[in-house]
Amino acid sequence: MYDFDMIVIGSGPSGRRAAVQSAKIGKSVLVVEKGRRVGGVSVHTGTIPSKTLRETVLNLSGWRERGFYGRSYRVKQDIGAGDLMARLHKTLDHEVEVLEHQFARNAVKTARGEARFVDPHTIEITAEGGEVDTVTGAHVLIAVGTRPFRPDYVPFNGMSVFDSDEIVDLPRLPRSLAVIGAGVIGVEYASIFSALDVSVTLIEPRATFLDFIDKELIEEFTHELRDRNVGLRLGAAVSSITLDARERPVCKLADGRTVQSDMLLFAAGRVGATDRLNLEAAGLSVDHRGRITVEPKTLQTAVPHIYAAGDVIGFPSLASTSMEQGRVAACHAFGLEPPPPPEFFPYGIYSVPEMSTVGMSEEEVRKREIPYECGIARFRETSRGHIMGLNSGMMKMIFSVKTRRLLGVHIVGEGATELIHIGQAVLNLKGTIDYFIENTFNYPTLAEAYKIAGLDAWNRMTRV
Ligand SMILES: Cc1cc2nc3c(=O)[nH]c(=O)nc-3n(C[C@H](O)[C@H](O)[C@H](O)COP(=O)(O)OP(=O)(O)OC[C@H]3O[C@@H](n4cnc5c(N)ncnc54)[C@H](O)[C@@H]3O)c2cc1C
Repeated sequence: MYDFDMIVIGSGPSGRRAAVQSAKIGKSVLVVEKGRRVGGVSVHTGTIPSKTLRETVLNLSGWRERGFYGRSYRVKQDIGAGDLMARLHKTLDHEVEVLEHQFARNAVKTARGEARFVDPHTIEITAEGGEVDTVTGAHVLIAVGTRPFRPDYVPFNGMSVFDSDEIVDLPRLPRSLAVIGAGVIGVEYASIFSALDVSVTLIEPRATFLDFIDKELIEEFTHELRDRNVGLRLGAAVSSITLDARERPVCKLADGRTVQSDMLLFAAGRVGATDRLNLEAAGLSVDHRGRITVEPKTLQTAVPHIYAAGDVIGFPSLASTSMEQGRVAACHAFGLEPPPPPEFFPYGIYSVPEMSTVGMSEEEVRKREIPYECGIARFRETSRGHIMGLNSGMMKMIFSVKTRRLLGVHIVGEGATELIHIGQAVLNLKGTIDYFIENTFNYPTLAEAYKIAGLDAWNRMTRV
């Protein structure tokens, strides 16, 4: 009756996972992608480029060795934009190749062009050259993601003022950089560029930033940024951004201060890429940020055979969670009941130093009035930390005094985004402090911090 069992609009993490899962169930699938290559924001402008850029910066700048050899240590003396781009393009090519192969292996068909609804089951695809094709699907997944918010008062010019999608194609390295927006993206790029010794100013209208993270962790992180001379302008709204005679951005703040810089990155929010989907024809609407509302367990929209997943449905807007959402949507569409999602998922912030967190922060535990105790470990207390020359890095664990259960793990420092998964497993398996006390950890590892933080909390809990 329909051309395809499932039409997926968008080939980012949620679209990709939904397409492959549908194909594994034996369904016919078409993925429509308007970009030149498959992969989505995640592969081309977001997750993978920013993480590759970070890795390149850390390698070429010799960042990880500076604890031993001093702040002036460099692996490569003059690092240019070309050095950063070379590794980026190789990584992206590889990612796309793996994805294309995955689609081919699973007989997932792809169409290049922009999709829009004609009616709830019919999609029109307009190719770059203007040719139009029409296809029908029993089910449709909207996985179109987001694009950067670009307000009119920001003079984007692709030379000195960029949004977060453009910054990965940097023409040259700036001497100084102003970053507007201290969300995850702004904080990541600000700290990455500062590791290259670019003079960075991070501007945020609110007095605090990354409020979903444990305050103690943010204090530690802020201390490190200040120590590297990153200028923090918190509680400072932007009144205007203009360009001087040399096209350099001049940013005036509401508190009367001015930030002049070589380049400016505007990273204050993203909006759902839904404006050209003609959603009314499908009987759907969006909120003020272009996002689609779904039933959280099934990811169905108001029209039951149309699903939405990934950043277009809003929080938490991560590649990791988007993939799971795509899989859940596909399973539900074809009558497979996926297991309920785990209570806690981890956040990874690939700043320099990186941060990762899972479960409740100390602020949340207090708000819920749960009697608790914390355990802290510093990476410099571990032998692995000495070997690596780490002067910083911290792990904080929070336990319930009543049940002894682990409530949250918060890490800042080298390897945080990998280390967190030990805590995540214990947390979601409802483990207690005893796991960390009774078990032996490989030595010397950074994971030993779990033992140290566990003992720190245990010593205080036993005294009580
Ligand atoms: C700078 C940055 C860093 C990030 N870092 C991380 C990280 O470290 N870890 C993490 O988990 N997440 C990270 N994210 C978030 C992550 O990239 C997103 O959560 C993820 O990409 C969302 O996936 P998605 O499935 O919604 O699709 P997206 O990746 O957003 O892709 C959507 C695709 O749909 C296509 N499309 C849109 N409209 C149409 C249409 N009408 N027709 C056809 N195709 C269309 C687009 O071209 C695009 O290819 C980062 C994001 C950014 C911007």
